[in-house]
Amino acid sequence: MVNAKFQALINQFTDLAANPHKTAKEWSLKTGKKVVACAGLDVPEPLIEAAGMMPIVLLEEYGKPIELANAHVQSHMCGYVRSMMEQALNGTLNYVEALMIRDACHELRMIGDLIHYVTDNVKHIQFMYFPPTQHETLTKPFMQKEMAKIRKIIGDYNSVEITDEMLAKAIKTHNENRKLMIRLYDIRRGNPGIISAVQVSVVIQASMCMPKEEHSKLLQELIAVLEKMAKDFKPSNSIPIIVSGSLCEICKDYVLEAIESTGGVVIDDDLYVGSRYFNTLYDELLTPMDALIEAYVNPISPCPTKYEKRSIGDYQLEMLQTTGARAIVDVIVQNCEAHYYGYFMAHQKVLAAGRRDLDLFIDMENDQFGQVKTRLQSFFESLEGE
Ligand code: SF4
Repeated sequence: MVNAKFQALINQFTDLAANPHKTAKEWSLKTGKKVVACAGLDVPEPLIEAAGMMPIVLLEEYGKPIELANAHVQSHMCGYVRSMMEQALNGTLNYVEALMIRDACHELRMIGDLIHYVTDNVKHIQFMYFPPTQHETLTKPFMQKEMAKIRKIIGDYNSVEITDEMLAKAIKTHNENRKLMIRLYDIRRGNPGIISAVQVSVVIQASMCMPKEEHSKLLQELIAVLEKMAKDFKPSNSIPIIVSGSLCEICKDYVLEAIESTGGVVIDDDLYVGSRYFNTLYDELLTPMDALIEAYVNPISPCPTKYEKRSIGDYQLEMLQTTGARAIVDVIVQNCEAHYYGYFMAHQKVLAAGRRDLDLFIDMENDQFGQVKTRLQSFFESLEGE
């Protein structure tokens, strides 16, 4: 009975995540709210919510061919920006009020300008120039100016003035959703295998394309079922693994399935469509604007697109230590320059600490299942032999 309820809920999340634009449009019709698409996890979603609109995270359309975009975007750009151009050109993004982009890397900056230049399909395209250096004296004053500018622009999209009260309420809604996702991850860490990595991924994907309150209601039900299941659950004895990376893209199902079918069990992650999305809570004791700035400047997960005192390698070692995972699987999006640099430094740090990791370079436009599975099999065999 409990398992049937669990499966029914997972099916619901899977349906919601399967076609994020359809889901977002349906919620937009139901609530009468405009939709604002966010490229990058640093777009301050509560500002959009506070303005009475619905933020969604723009993801790549995996499995759909890139056709129109080929005339404008080279094949050596990452799959995410290629897909973003395709979605702009083929009219998928016609319904959004705005596309908000944090100026996180060369490719994002290029694609925002290029979309603006080649098509009128996207009503507004707005960059946010948040500084990549996070702990300089000028970082916070600069952020205050930029955040105030963005607050005004977002308010104007819906002809409202965003008050502190509206923003504080939106922050609370987002924090509630984040706390539930943190709880889901606690349950997975404590009960390896109780929920698969693909199932966790669809739960997070759903949160990126629907109203946070609605997602929280479903998630509360899922957590209640999992807590019951945990009472007599026998944890998996496969090798506990942390999956990391997959910047701007969903970590492909076949990668997660391959990990869990070749000898590993994902007990935690540092994925973009994963813990990076929700693990930093907004500090409700600060003023709402300062809470947004603080979440950008001091996030839980270091980001390769920013310069931070704490590196990804430090963070991965902390995660290995606190979770009891045996190794890291780094998923690197093909042609993501920012992550290439970040990953190589993290890899050196992990190796120097005597820990193990495996890199998988994933190209969104090619299914590498066979190759990925073979590499994972050898990796787990080598770990078993240690
Ligand atoms: S995947 Fe990497 S290169 Fe592509 S947009 Fe994201 S940070 Fe930039």
